[in-house]
Amino acid sequence: MNFFFKMVVGLSILLAAGCKQTTNKNLYLGNRQIKVVTTTTMIADLLNNAGKGRVFVESLMGPGIDPHSYEPRESDVSRLMDADVVFYNGIHLEGKMADLFKESSKKKHVFAIADGLLPEDIQKEIQSNTNDPHIWFDVRLWIKCLDFVSAKLIEIDPENISIYNTNKNNYLATLNDLHKYVKSQSEKIPIEQRVLITAHDAFGYFGKAYGFQVRGVQGINTVAEANSGEIGSLATFMVKNKVRAFFVESSVPRKNLEKLKEVASLLDPKFIISSGGELYSDALGPKTSPAGTYEGMVKHNIETIVKALVP
Ligand SMILES: [Zn+2]
Repeated sequence: MNFFFKMVVGLSILLAAGCKQTTNKNLYLGNRQIKVVTTTTMIADLLNNAGKGRVFVESLMGPGIDPHSYEPRESDVSRLMDADVVFYNGIHLEGKMADLFKESSKKKHVFAIADGLLPEDIQKEIQSNTNDPHIWFDVRLWIKCLDFVSAKLIEIDPENISIYNTNKNNYLATLNDLHKYVKSQSEKIPIEQRVLITAHDAFGYFGKAYGFQVRGVQGINTVAEANSGEIGSLATFMVKNKVRAFFVESSVPRKNLEKLKEVASLLDPKFIISSGGELYSDALGPKTSPAGTYEGMVKHNIETIVKALVP
C-alpha cells in the first residue's frame, strides 16, 4: 500500500471516527471563527478578505510552492480533518489532491472556487488543449471567485450575512481598482511589444484580459521538461521579433530559460536575451513581502512587465 493510498484510507477512518454530528454538513458555529483550509496562498488571501472577522484561514501550500506537482503530506490530512470548510482552485490545478478532496467532501464543505465561473470564462491552454487553471490572473474572474466564496460563507454562516456583504463590497472596490490599474499599465506598452515569454503557460488569462501575446517555453504543467524543438522555435521567434526580455517565475526552475538564451545567441550572436525580472505565478510571495497579498502580487507582476517591455 503506497503512502498516498494509506493517507486517503487514514483520512476516511479519521473522518468517520471523529465526526459524529457530520452525517449532514451543518455546522454549529456559535461565536467561534470558521476554520478554513485552502490549497494555494492566493485562495487563502481571497478568504481572508471575504471572511474578515469571521474566519481563521490556513493554506496547505506556502510561498513558492508549485501546486501542479504538490504531493499532500500527512500533516495536510490532519489540517483537512480539522477544517470546517475547504476551498481549492479546481480545473486540475491541484492534480495530486483530487482523492483527498473527494474523501473530505463526504463529511465537510469542500468547494472548488472555479465553480464560480461560467463555462465560457474557462480558456484552453494552447499547447496541451486542456482547461487552463490559472484563473487568478484575470482580475475580473477573481471578482467572480469573490462572489462565489462570499455566497458559500453566507450559506455556512447565515447569521453573519451583513459582515460578509460588507467584506465583499470593500474587497470588490479594491479588485475593481486593481483591474483598472493593470489595464492602464498594460497600455503603456505598444501593442506589438506586448509579448510575454515565461517558463510555463501561467499567463494565458492575463494575456487575453490585458492584450498580451503569451509564449511559454513549456506546457502548462511544470512537471514536464521542455524539449529542444520547443526551445528552438521560441528562440527563433524572439530573435525575429526583437523580443529581448523573458520573465522568470518564482515557482519554476530556471534551466529551460538558460537554454533559451543559449540557443538565441547561436542564431544571432549580437542578440542578447535578458531576464525581465521575476514574476509570481502559482503562489504569492512571503507573507510580509509586498507580493504577499493577491493585490500586491498582481501589482508586482504588471510593474515588472512594464519596466522590462516599455521601450
Ligand atoms: Zn501553473
